[in-house]
Amino acid sequence: MDLSKHAFFEGKIVPLSEANINIATHGFLYGTSIFGGMRSYWNEEKKRLFVFRPYDHFRRLLHSAKMMSMRTEYDEESLIDLTLELLRTDNWQRDIYMRPTFYKADLGIGVKLHDLKDEFCMFVMAFDKYVPNDTNAHVTVSSWRRIDDNVIPARGKVAGAYVNSALIKTDANRSGFDEALVLDNNGHVSEGSAMNIFMLRDGVLVPPPVTDNILEGITRKSIIELARNELGLEVLERSIDRTEVFIAEEMFMTGTAAQITTVTKVDHRPIGAGVMGPVVTKLRILYEDILRGKNRNYEHWNVAV
Ligand code: PMP
Repeated sequence: MDLSKHAFFEGKIVPLSEANINIATHGFLYGTSIFGGMRSYWNEEKKRLFVFRPYDHFRRLLHSAKMMSMRTEYDEESLIDLTLELLRTDNWQRDIYMRPTFYKADLGIGVKLHDLKDEFCMFVMAFDKYVPNDTNAHVTVSSWRRIDDNVIPARGKVAGAYVNSALIKTDANRSGFDEALVLDNNGHVSEGSAMNIFMLRDGVLVPPPVTDNILEGITRKSIIELARNELGLEVLERSIDRTEVFIAEEMFMTGTAAQITTVTKVDHRPIGAGVMGPVVTKLRILYEDILRGKNRNYEHWNVAV
């Protein structure tokens, strides 16, 4: 992995090799850290790097921190400033992924959230595609269930909860699938291992609602806006049944890492014609331009480094 030379750790930028935590750290022992996953895209013509929707990412990060009883002096603006400083330090000139994390930093044993010290850190890495088959993914319905919001905050990015995602991803891949659809405890399709899902049914774009144990994805939110405003599509947030996806016209998954991944088969059944459909094709083209700062109407989503 092509990791950053520097990281933000314990209040300052340091060489990555010095950004280490002790093995007795609470966040490591109990998964009591929360994180974000953000991307920056390189625009070759403008010779500039654009961070995609950092305000929204840090807002969600601070919400996750709140759910885990973390306290911090940072706000969205100061986190953006610190991110820009870190990116400038390593002078990145390619597509990258940023991983900001808040963690319970006390050393020792004791399962709780209160009266513990919270720390912030961030590193960066070079990043390209996350799902190799992103134009024709074959997914399965996972035998694992998505974590329920009454078990671990489903709308928070809690590190410990990613054991669920890891089980889902590994079992799907080992069975020969690119990804998985994950049902929640009510049997509704919630999302993928680390991406939100959309289906097109009878011409209406349907994402599961935020109350179906999904992570409230920044990509999801962006796609809903683009589908309505640029494609003139009706978007209806509602629960999705398992068998509905078999008869959908189109299906795709969205995430910072996954971007827009087209699903063309679910458990060996073709979605629509079994090839990438017109709606997802249009969204992918539109989205790619926006990410690289090439679409004037959505410049406000990007922050130039
Ligand atoms: N669901 C889960 C569980 C995720 O980890 C992610 C990736 N952050 C997403 C959905 C997609 O969210 P976003 O578009 O904000 O990256």
